[in-house]
Amino acid sequence: MLRASVVPVVVLGAALGLTACGGGSGGSAADGSGLTGTGISVAGNLGTNAGASTGTDTGGNSGTATDTNVGPGTGTTSNADSSGSDTGQGGSGSESNAGTDAETGNGSNEGTSTSDTVCPDLSRCVDFTALRIAKYKDNKRAAASYTFDDGYATSTAIASIFEKAGVRATFYIIPGIIRADGWSMWKTLAGKGHEIGNHSMTHPDFRNTVLSDQQLDAEINGAQRLIEQKLGIRPQTFAFPYHLYSDRALKVAQQNHVAVRKMNLGDPGYQFAFFDTDHGTDLAGTLVTVNRQLDEAVKAGGWFVAGGHGIDGDGWSPVTTEFLQKHLAYAAQYSSALWTDTFANVSRYRLCRDMVKAEVLLPSSTQANVHLTGTYDPAVCNAPMTVTVPVSIPSGATLRTKTVDGTEVATSVSAGTAFFSLRPGDKVSLQVVPATKTTR
Ligand SMILES: [Zn+2]
Repeated sequence: MLRASVVPVVVLGAALGLTACGGGSGGSAADGSGLTGTGISVAGNLGTNAGASTGTDTGGNSGTATDTNVGPGTGTTSNADSSGSDTGQGGSGSESNAGTDAETGNGSNEGTSTSDTVCPDLSRCVDFTALRIAKYKDNKRAAASYTFDDGYATSTAIASIFEKAGVRATFYIIPGIIRADGWSMWKTLAGKGHEIGNHSMTHPDFRNTVLSDQQLDAEINGAQRLIEQKLGIRPQTFAFPYHLYSDRALKVAQQNHVAVRKMNLGDPGYQFAFFDTDHGTDLAGTLVTVNRQLDEAVKAGGWFVAGGHGIDGDGWSPVTTEFLQKHLAYAAQYSSALWTDTFANVSRYRLCRDMVKAEVLLPSSTQANVHLTGTYDPAVCNAPMTVTVPVSIPSGATLRTKTVDGTEVATSVSAGTAFFSLRPGDKVSLQVVPATKTTR
């Protein structure tokens, strides 16, 4: 599932002479000392510049530079054969070099800068051919989701157990049996980030072939509409009562829901864990079983989905507060490998990673633009995805990721792989800069 498509737009060759076009209007330059002329000129301007400039600097060198940067950036002039550099600061504007270069390459410039010497050819420090959308958010190895059906009274207590562990759960509710005064607790839980999912209007057995198309619509879509009307949030996922359904019912559920919870996905890494005593001998045995399933999911880089009901005597085959706490304590050992989130959030990520593509554009030899594109439903793929890329960055340097408006994007590097978040449709620029440049 390789998603990187690398399209080098402009790779600037070494131009004889210095042709700096750093910042456009409003730019300022801090020149390095000892400029001798031969070098690479790279310019990144805020705004859109397209054009070629030819210049002769006062040091007697002449050269040509092409500037086709679109978007943000600070301009940088890199001189391969000298220690000098020209760093332009921002500024929108047009190219202003026409025969005369702003750079005076006479070797008498003051100030030093090393920004150009860190990674003069970015593609040698960052392997853009291996740029990917991570399997799971934050480059985690596996995912886990916790779902609880039927909307029992202890749902609030369950939610708070998960909140204490920094986790959000999914509650599949049956809107047809919720009383007028029963909606406020679901509104509260939704407000805390838990997912309120659709468990049908009246909890029928969906294998029943007697159910007409109209009844299926009322049970599935009607329930979705009622929940949306009451909570102001449209349920994104559906769970069939008893895990039972006909093909016809499944089709209806898939029409308006991002995902349908199932016991099996045909994915070997998928583990559906029953948080009840009906599928095991006792609670202690069930805990051992579900923890082992979590081990398997993490090992396989898969998805662990728990399915429970109420707790502490409430609801069908309930587990206990202690059971949940013990499981969460066990799961904590995997915190660096496991992304735990609602069923909807993990479902959406899994869907979108197959539809969204990461594209790389190299407007210059020191900057890359990464863009998430592809054919996807923007209403579904509207959460940030994690982009990973292998890096080999010189010591004392760091990979800087910025949005189009110049906002720094948190970028982690672990075991030779850099990763950062990017929303489908959005674009960031990547540069390798001296580490001191990013610390304030
Ligand atoms: Zn149920």
